[in-house]
Amino acid sequence: MTAMPGMSFATLSAESAPATSVDHPSVQLQRHFDGLRNATVPALRFDLAGLPFAEWRDTLRPRLRAVLGLPPESEHAPRLLDVWAGEWRETPDFRWQRLLLRTEPDLWVPAYFVMPPGAAVAEAGGRLPTVIAVQGHAKDGMRVSVGMLPPEEYQRTIAEGDRDLALQAVRHGYACLALEMRGFGELRLPQDFAKDAPKSCPRLVSLAEQVGQTLMGMRVHDVLAAVEYLQARPEVDGDRLVLTGNSGGGAVTLFATALDTRIAASVPSCWFGTYAGSMQLVHHCPCNFIPGLSQLCDVSDLAGLAAPRPQLIVNGRHDANHPLKAAEEAWPWTQEIYAAAGAPDAVHWFVGEGGHRYYAAPVWPWLTGALSLPPSFAQARYPAAPVLDAV
Ligand SMILES: [Zn+2]
Repeated sequence: MTAMPGMSFATLSAESAPATSVDHPSVQLQRHFDGLRNATVPALRFDLAGLPFAEWRDTLRPRLRAVLGLPPESEHAPRLLDVWAGEWRETPDFRWQRLLLRTEPDLWVPAYFVMPPGAAVAEAGGRLPTVIAVQGHAKDGMRVSVGMLPPEEYQRTIAEGDRDLALQAVRHGYACLALEMRGFGELRLPQDFAKDAPKSCPRLVSLAEQVGQTLMGMRVHDVLAAVEYLQARPEVDGDRLVLTGNSGGGAVTLFATALDTRIAASVPSCWFGTYAGSMQLVHHCPCNFIPGLSQLCDVSDLAGLAAPRPQLIVNGRHDANHPLKAAEEAWPWTQEIYAAAGAPDAVHWFVGEGGHRYYAAPVWPWLTGALSLPPSFAQARYPAAPVLDAV
């Protein structure tokens, strides 16, 4: 260590130390990071940018793509390289098949495609509105969406948390693609999969960011490949694609919908709220953080980039991970964007009277109107059915 010119170590005594150093260094460090969080200005947050909606949207989208580590390609560039589809399996209420979507030259992303039985499909004219379901942090990943869970998991995640997104969708008359997210379920790293660790996010985030990508951007890339796949399936109404997920799945829902206008409607659950009041205030998995994002925009803008498409934002009143106060702060900013886009009535906010979970009750009635579907889509056509068998 080199002393400053004209200063010896002896002068660095308590008597000559700066007044602010009286706090313990750990306290100073906390204060420094709090200051960084509060001083960072999101230059393209809609209410700060001062741009008309279309100009703001067209400025922010490519910048958002860049911070996510996605290549500056055209919005609808092909991302799906190949598909493998398994045999159909059936119960009286469901048909489903396992899929592998090749979204990278060396990566096949697992998924389940689930549909109502054949008669219901024919009744709907052969093409169904289709939901893409993405789970958040769960070691069972997409299997949660289709109810392929051990009994001890079923009560917490489905009976109390409404996380069987694919089964709900099919009961209401939709098709559904339950897509595995990188870092969860079958897409955990081998060492995590072997010991049944809940996730592989920290390692994958580090590896992705070292090469200029992000884990969130990779998940978005896979969703956009799934959109491409679904639009080519004959049973799917490609003009009525819905994206939904809870928690980390809510994050992917917001980012992917912000970038891809082929997603007709979205339901991001339990992730909406300012970064400063949620992700930066409460400890979160590193996959929630995007390098440089807070210099660019906030979560209210991610939701705003979905405008004028229908969007139902969901929060839990007692969600300790994503405090309601942060959502209350962000909500008017998103409303302002939708108003500027000429669609003030297309965005809704639902607050469930519980914690960090999915809230199915408002979703299906709302989607029926949002997608201009017959009233029958608002009500479940089948009772809560047994879970699907593993394939
Ligand atoms: Zn994570």
